[in-house]
Amino acid sequence: MLAAYITHPDCARHEMGPGHPECPERLGAIADRLLARGLLDYMVPYDAPLATPEQLARAHSALHVQRMLDAAPAEGYRAIDPDTSMNPYTIPAALRAAGAAVQATDLVLAGEVGTAFCAVRPPGHHAEREEAMGFCFFNNVAVGIRHALDVHGLTRVALIDFDVHHGNGSEDIFAGDERVLMCGTYEIGLYPFNGDGRRTVADTPNMVNIGLPSRSGGAAFRSAVETHWIPALDAFRPQLIYVSAGFDAHREDDMGNLGFVDADYEWVTRQLVAVAARHSMGRIVSCLEGGYVLESLARSAAAHVRVLIGAD
Ligand SMILES: [Zn+2]
Repeated sequence: MLAAYITHPDCARHEMGPGHPECPERLGAIADRLLARGLLDYMVPYDAPLATPEQLARAHSALHVQRMLDAAPAEGYRAIDPDTSMNPYTIPAALRAAGAAVQATDLVLAGEVGTAFCAVRPPGHHAEREEAMGFCFFNNVAVGIRHALDVHGLTRVALIDFDVHHGNGSEDIFAGDERVLMCGTYEIGLYPFNGDGRRTVADTPNMVNIGLPSRSGGAAFRSAVETHWIPALDAFRPQLIYVSAGFDAHREDDMGNLGFVDADYEWVTRQLVAVAARHSMGRIVSCLEGGYVLESLARSAAAHVRVLIGAD
């Protein structure tokens, strides 16, 4: 089955100032590594389209969408929070990033590809229904998921999030929506500081977000996946699986301290491919989130993509 590689040059024009870790070079590092490993030979390239306001307003309020569109500066930077700012190219990049998730959804549900990797930025999983934060403006995977639910009529969609940071935005958008099962892990005590080491929204059974202690390593991650994610996914039987693919839990990435290695990203992707084979006709849409040290980001993303597209 073919795999899609979805990106757009606009995604490299958004930047948040000199030295900011969420930098345009992240996408080039990933593309270079996928090319060098021969993985792009297995993938069909697509230019991400611009998400429409209607598509964005399924995951966000219309007010948030308009606020973002109005906030873009004509020149220079405009701060959204202490870590997050816009430049004149932020909106096109953010619309492409969300549009990639929509396009990936259309492609896998049409059977044109089995899996898709969206190499996009800005990332999305911290963006809540009403708020941009944490380098994120629109929640890309959430926009894709709502497109799958509302336009394609799916009734069971899974969202996997292995970024080192808790996917608070995705949780905000989907907590209590029983059409969506979110399975995540995150490092306790890191941004956005709302984890307590247990499920962060205890009374919504569709949220399986597991806090991991600092320096607990890949073994604790794998245990959480096997103990919490896999049984929940097998019971839920998702028709399609989305991945918030953040690679900042890597031990070379100083954003976090979980100490994952390349092999952990390969391993978790194998688990997801197996779940997708059992329940989802193999369909997986993966969207880039974090990962800030270019070398480990590129290697980890390549390990993830290699398994995702069945290139090994
Ligand atoms: Zn992160």
